Amino acid sequence: ARPLLQVDDLKKHFPIKAGFFGGTTGNVYAVDGVSFHVDKGETLSLVGESGCGKSTVGKTLLRLYHPTSGQVVLDGQRIDDLSESKLRPVRRRIGVVFQDPFSSLNPRMRVRDLLAEPIRNYGLAKNSAELDARLHKLMDTVRLPRDALGRFPHEFSGGQRQRICIARALAGEPELIICDEAVSALDVSVKAQIVNLLQDLQKELGLALLFISHDLAIVEHMTHRVAVMYLGKIVEIAPKRSLFAAPKHPYTEALLSAVPVPEPGMARQRVILKGDVPSPIKPPSGCRFHTRCPYVFDRCKTDEPRLQQTEPGQWAACHLHDLPAEQNPLRRGMAAAA
Ligand code: SF4
Ligand code: MG
Repeated sequence: ARPLLQVDDLKKHFPIKAGFFGGTTGNVYAVDGVSFHVDKGETLSLVGESGCGKSTVGKTLLRLYHPTSGQVVLDGQRIDDLSESKLRPVRRRIGVVFQDPFSSLNPRMRVRDLLAEPIRNYGLAKNSAELDARLHKLMDTVRLPRDALGRFPHEFSGGQRQRICIARALAGEPELIICDEAVSALDVSVKAQIVNLLQDLQKELGLALLFISHDLAIVEHMTHRVAVMYLGKIVEIAPKRSLFAAPKHPYTEALLSAVPVPEPGMARQRVILKGDVPSPIKPPSGCRFHTRCPYVFDRCKTDEPRLQQTEPGQWAACHLHDLPAEQNPLRRGMAAAA
C-alpha cells in the first residue's frame, strides 16, 4: 500500500544577509535533503537536539515555510508545489499541535469560537445545529466536558489547554497530525495523560502522527518508528525496537545513552559527545557528525555517508557499515564504547 505521506529529498534553506559590512551572503541549511514516509495510522517520531531541523521539517510540511526543493506527496497527491488556494483542502487533512498551549490559543476567544473557526473555514458545517454537533463531538473526543465550550483558555490547566489544541487540530478531520514538542512543556503526570490521549485517538480515528520531540523516553513509549536528525539530515531511521535495542548510527547511540532505562543493571554506557553542534550555516564536510563522533576515521571527513539498510527496515548513514563486521563497533548494537 502506498504511504499516507511520502517526503523525498526535502530541503529548506534560509538565506542570510551578511552583516553590517556586507560582502557574503549564505544559507542556513536547516533541512538539507530529508526523505521518509509515514503510513496510515502510524506514528513516526522525528528526534534530535534542538536546532537539528526537525521543527523546520514539520513547518515545511504544513507549508508554513515554502520548501526550497524536494517533493511531498500526501495520499498520492503532490502538495509541495500547490498554490495557496489549492492548499486549502489539503490543510484540512493535516492537523498540528505545537508545544505551548498557552500561546497557541487566542486568550480572548472562547473555546467554542476557537474550534468553530476551522470548522467553518473548512466548510464542515452548513448550519448552527451541525456546528454544535461537531463542537460537542470534538469535546467528547478529547475528553473535555461540553460546557468547556463556553469558557476562555485561561480558565483551563495546561493539560486541558493542550486538549483544546488537539481538538482544534482534529476539527478538519485530518488523517495526519504533526505534534511539535506537543507534550514537552507539560508536567510529567499531565504528559502521560496527553500521550495516552494521542494514542487512543490514533486507534479510534486511524490517525497517523508525526511526533517531533527531543525526549526519547516519551518517544520510546509511543512511537512505531523513529527518524533521528542531525544538522538538517536524517542519520538513522528504524522501527522503534531495533533502534532502541541496537542503534546503527553513533549519534543515535549517544542520544540513547542519555535515556534512563527501567532496570538498573541494564544501564547503557554513557557516551558523552565532545563539542557543540556545529552551525547549520557551514556544516562540516563529509559526515556532518565527524567533528563529534567517537569513531571518526579518515574517510568520514571527506566522504558524505548515504543512508544504507543495515537490518530490515533500519537505515543508517555511517561509513562504519562498509567496514568488515569485526571492525564495526555498532555491529551488535549496544556500544562497547571506547
Ligand atoms: Fe562517525 Fe564516520 Fe559514521 Fe560519521 S561516518 S557517524 S564520523 S563513523
Ligand atoms: Mg523545535
